[in-house]
Amino acid sequence: MKKIVVLIMDGLGDRPNSELMGLTPLQYSFRPNMNTLARKGQTGFMFPVSEGVCTGSDTSHLSILGYDPRSVYTGRGPFEAMGLGLLVNPGDIAFRANFATVDASGVVTDRRAGRIRERTAELASELSFELDGYKFTVAAGVEHRAALVVSGPDLSDRVSDSDPHEVGRKVKEIKALDESGERTAEILNRYTERARAILEAHDVNVRRRASGESPANIILLRGAGKAPEIEPFANKYGMKGACIAGIPLIRGIGHLAGLDIIHKSEMTGSYNSDYRTKIRETVHALRDHDFVLVNFKATDVAGHDGEPFKKVSVIEKADEAISPLLDLGEEITLAITGDHSTPCAIREHSGDPVPLLIYTDGIRADQSEKFDEIQASHGSIRIRSGDLMQYLLSVSDRAEKYGA
Ligand SMILES: [Zn+2]
Repeated sequence: MKKIVVLIMDGLGDRPNSELMGLTPLQYSFRPNMNTLARKGQTGFMFPVSEGVCTGSDTSHLSILGYDPRSVYTGRGPFEAMGLGLLVNPGDIAFRANFATVDASGVVTDRRAGRIRERTAELASELSFELDGYKFTVAAGVEHRAALVVSGPDLSDRVSDSDPHEVGRKVKEIKALDESGERTAEILNRYTERARAILEAHDVNVRRRASGESPANIILLRGAGKAPEIEPFANKYGMKGACIAGIPLIRGIGHLAGLDIIHKSEMTGSYNSDYRTKIRETVHALRDHDFVLVNFKATDVAGHDGEPFKKVSVIEKADEAISPLLDLGEEITLAITGDHSTPCAIREHSGDPVPLLIYTDGIRADQSEKFDEIQASHGSIRIRSGDLMQYLLSVSDRAEKYGA
């Protein structure tokens, strides 16, 4: 049985680009390692989630790990919280939140607390505490934005917002939308009260009031969402898994699936991301893990920036970085792909399939000579992302027999 490494180059897929003489960034790039693997292995197309679906990184990573986003993608709350760096566990509930300003009678006078930028991470940490056996964790986002995750027994997302959604109205009491939400609503209302007392007294707000700025004296909650109760990766596949990613959202999804989060770096998709370090961490993680998911974010960033040459350069650095994985074919199956396409020409995700490369010793090599979106049409694989894990288990001699 071999171990499995899946390298996701975020937003890798692209289209012919006029700045690159009609080539895609992958085609244009110098990528000797990926091409060697393509000759020795298999390539083809992977359809993120399904043919023509234009996915986000969250839904596509869930799908690549074998969780159908159509049943486990439970709305934005938990995923936004993960995006802000909060680790969310199955069964937790999460909210999108705002720091806002209320007057003495509880009427909202500024839903954004003057677009506060001042020490919001500190305010968030003050609002992270336990109350009656429930754990509340807040992370600050850009300006007044934040997210709240609640952990504890029998939580329900069937609760209303405290955010009145407009100025001049009172902060709403959170109500249960059905019986399952009663306990959750009660604890959230108590939390909101306690949070308000903490914020009112905080020296950031004392200073803001003194200088005539809107104090961030309440946290408004909206869009309750429950983290999906997904089957842990280890149970599902009989493999101990690890996740190495710079961006919080991908780390959060890995954690939700029960993967060990290895990469501590906070390089959120910058062009300077250290691919070598991530590959070194991968090799290290393989000592005591059977599966490693690695995410390189910068290909997606270059796509969004509409910078084909930057995308080429990221691919070339990544190609160089994967060298240590090349000679591990006896021990590992290596898959390289994207989670979706982010064509530089449109600066957004698209529903185009992504190129997929799979190599392990003894695999049936196909006709592909290179690894790119055009050569992939000579390759042998056509697969939906939700079937990738099963395919990898099979070529790694890990698949269970179906039938007698
Ligand atoms: Zn993107």
